[in-house]
Amino acid sequence: MDNKAFKYLFSLFLISTCLHQLATAQANYRKIENYKPFYGWAHHFPQDWMILRQFENEGKEYYMLVNPQTLETKINERSFYQVKQMSITQARVFFKSTPYQKALRKAEKQSDAGIESGIPKETGISLTADLCPSHRPLDKRIFTDIFTEFQKVEHPVPVALSVTGVWMRQHPQDLEWLKQMQAKREIYITWINHSFNHRVSLKAPLKENFLLEPGTDMNYEILETEKAMLKNGLLPSVFFRFPGLVSDQQLIYKLTGYGLIPIGTDAWLAKGQQPQAGSIVLIHGNGNEPTGVNDFIKLLKSKAGSIAQKQWLLYDLRESVEEEFESSN
Ligand SMILES: [Zn+2]
Repeated sequence: MDNKAFKYLFSLFLISTCLHQLATAQANYRKIENYKPFYGWAHHFPQDWMILRQFENEGKEYYMLVNPQTLETKINERSFYQVKQMSITQARVFFKSTPYQKALRKAEKQSDAGIESGIPKETGISLTADLCPSHRPLDKRIFTDIFTEFQKVEHPVPVALSVTGVWMRQHPQDLEWLKQMQAKREIYITWINHSFNHRVSLKAPLKENFLLEPGTDMNYEILETEKAMLKNGLLPSVFFRFPGLVSDQQLIYKLTGYGLIPIGTDAWLAKGQQPQAGSIVLIHGNGNEPTGVNDFIKLLKSKAGSIAQKQWLLYDLRESVEEEFESSN
């Protein structure tokens, strides 16, 4: 290829890459004001949405919305919708037969960490990796290895990351690296709120530890994390993971009162729990638990044949939860 042809092709490549990124990148909302819970029904033909939050950014008003059928969230300008404001109780009754509300009710019936598995008919798992505060760098092997194993069969590969406000502040370059993988459509990340501070005491009993520590401000832990996600160009989902997987009934109701679904795990790999079909697998992406990541990579290698035949896949957490509640009551 001569130089001119190469330049032409290269500029075409750049243009298509830019257009692609424009279409997929989440905007950064750097000057958020008046961020608060706001509930109700929003309609823009043909879709109904449940409104979860409202905020202002550089003179414009926005909503964060959830599609109650698919559990997909989005940020959009307020003026785009026909709106009916409701209390969260009214909104939950209004949308009561949707997969989103069924998942919230199921989570309220568990007394522990929340929903722990997707549908067992799936042959594969949903991968969740936690980004608790850590001074170690992001464990990048998780992402490069799933991309390598799945590139011929699943594109982008879905993964759910539970992120804390403190980790985002500590690791801007790691965050940028993840966003680049997402922009290149190598992975698709569902962002789970994992609290802002993720406080933990080495001495306190579990019933007074993590978010059960006396004096914990749940409003701050939930909303400040969402704001930090939006500021960093991440789209919050309707999922929350309790730090330490520790909660009690009262804390679960507090959380569902913000419209958030707690996500537990039935396969914390570093604790030796074996994944089953449909498992929600937990590993730590923050560098603090390399044995869990090693086990996950071993699992991937052992499934290489099934992956190639599309018989063992990674599932999008939103779809796993949604499908489980599509037909059930
Ligand atoms: Zn954690």
